[in-house]
Amino acid sequence: MVFKSRFYKLSPSDLQRLGFQPFETLHTKTVGNFVMKFLIHRGWMRNFYLLISVACITGCILWFQNKSLHFVKAKPIVWIFLGMVLFFVWIPVHEALHVLAYRLAGARYVRLEAHWRQGYFLALAPGFVADASSFLFIAFLPFFIISLAHLVLILCIKAEWVSLFWISFLLHTLGCVGDFAVADLFIRNRNWEVVTFDEPTGITYFLKREKIGRGKEKNFKSNSFITKLTSLLKIPQLGSL
Ligand SMILES: [Zn+2]
Repeated sequence: MVFKSRFYKLSPSDLQRLGFQPFETLHTKTVGNFVMKFLIHRGWMRNFYLLISVACITGCILWFQNKSLHFVKAKPIVWIFLGMVLFFVWIPVHEALHVLAYRLAGARYVRLEAHWRQGYFLALAPGFVADASSFLFIAFLPFFIISLAHLVLILCIKAEWVSLFWISFLLHTLGCVGDFAVADLFIRNRNWEVVTFDEPTGITYFLKREKIGRGKEKNFKSNSFITKLTSLLKIPQLGSL
């Protein structure tokens, strides 16, 4: 499977002997600070996210200014309320898609966390080691599928009540900020090989090592005493993944 993590058979304790060093941690309780950091720091992922959000806001404004819809005074507020209700309906779908993506990437166990006070939900796969491509797939699958669903509905249905899809599309896009923020760590460190895993306590670790080619990977293994020892004990090796 193309989105399967190269490291799905490994456990986090194997990473250090493979040359990975931690460079960032994320606690589920401090997601807000993490997201703020993403929004403040310049980067093309942040700019891409802002561009999509502005496009959604503009689309909403243009839709509600569309005179052919003949809104009576109170109606936009009704549609906004219904759009917010629809947005909450999408949340379990969004999280279910994260779970599906985790499973396709090779995670055996995935759990969901709801942080009601802070207003966010998380899918965690404790002990599962994700590489860059599998993690980007996990992070973006819900955004792409739900955005596509909204766009199809908005473009295909010619009725006033499409207003509620505009509102839920906007809220869902804004709500995906956490997914973009985590994906940004992989994009910023694209010159490195980056992996991530969650601990059962809710801390997510990000580790990186220098990118090594296939041939060099072999040397890296054979030069390491620990790696030789683990190969002797038949512990899964990087080259066998
Ligand atoms: Zn998400």
